[in-house]
Amino acid sequence: MYNGVIKRYRQYLNIEDDSKIVTMNEGRTLFHKLVNLPSALGLKNADIYIKFEGLNPTGSFKDRGMTMAVTKANEQGSGAVICASTGNTSASAAAYAAVAGMKAFVLIPDRKIALGKLAQAIVYGAKVIAVDGNFDDALNMVIRLAKTEPVTLVNSVNPNRLQGQKTAAFEICDDLGHAPDYLVLPVGNAGNISAYWMGFKEYYENGIISALPKMTGFQAAGAAPIVENRIIENPETVATAIRIGNPASWDKAVRARDESNGSISAVTDEEILEAQKLLASEEGIFAEPASCASIAGVVKFAKENRFEKDKHLEIVCILTGNGLKDTSVIIGNGDAEDKIIHAKPDFDVLSQIIRQ
Ligand SMILES: *Cc1c(COP(=O)(O)O)cnc(C)c1O
Repeated sequence: MYNGVIKRYRQYLNIEDDSKIVTMNEGRTLFHKLVNLPSALGLKNADIYIKFEGLNPTGSFKDRGMTMAVTKANEQGSGAVICASTGNTSASAAAYAAVAGMKAFVLIPDRKIALGKLAQAIVYGAKVIAVDGNFDDALNMVIRLAKTEPVTLVNSVNPNRLQGQKTAAFEICDDLGHAPDYLVLPVGNAGNISAYWMGFKEYYENGIISALPKMTGFQAAGAAPIVENRIIENPETVATAIRIGNPASWDKAVRARDESNGSISAVTDEEILEAQKLLASEEGIFAEPASCASIAGVVKFAKENRFEKDKHLEIVCILTGNGLKDTSVIIGNGDAEDKIIHAKPDFDVLSQIIRQ
């Protein structure tokens, strides 16, 4: 039976022999070659894979890091965890704390997180504190609080988080038999791109793979500090999970980009939402807006002819979170109304609609 990322990749993780592992059997997520998108984008020589991290137990990749962070907190005898969150970290921290029998305190930017994520933190039993500020303000607060109060910080500045998250890179290599040419993912606080790069490099150093991917990150245009090389004081984007103006792992992400010969670019909210619809309507996959920055990025690179045409390419897009967490972007703006046909339950009326 599968028992989660720590048991599967224990040799690459720093876990005590007698440690009680806090897991929800996260990981081993759907890895799938897209059927319609490559030709729709004119990428005849490319295979595009998605890794759907939205199928983790709480619906995002944060669970990979949280199993490590909460296991280590528990190992060290901590009774409570704390985090700042754009939503998914709080959902994950709350769930893993519940499993471990620990308390969870989560600081969220007031009214700026998706309702599904807020519902998760509440139902898993966390103390939810909505602060009048953005994610960066909340993160500064929890870093200070964790220094003096009896709580363990489980944001990605906690190195155990990135250790857990690197297992996604291992899974991709184990499934493909090698690393892809491009690893494409959204960048917010920049922990995940750093974790993937760490994972690929460890496999490379251990001789399991013989080439490394180009790390290809995408930020939302209204929250693109790394792209613009400056702190963004008031980041704005529909992709709330990457609405971050001063990423904690900024330097690590830049190193991952440069060492891998990769890039970090921006995509607009329009491009993100278009990519979300494209992914759903062409491939049957519903990922949250931040996740779709990766697909939007591939669309953008395809349009700009940034992918090599003369060789077969493997492009892996990370879909970081589940679309069901944030349905308001689909049905909250009146868009849904013109997609729905209202009709009486009358056979003739309905058959007319089908025949149109
Ligand atoms: C956390 C998160 C991100 C951003 O990851 P970072 O490690 O902060 O760069 C992207 N997408 C989703 C869905 C997330 O939850």
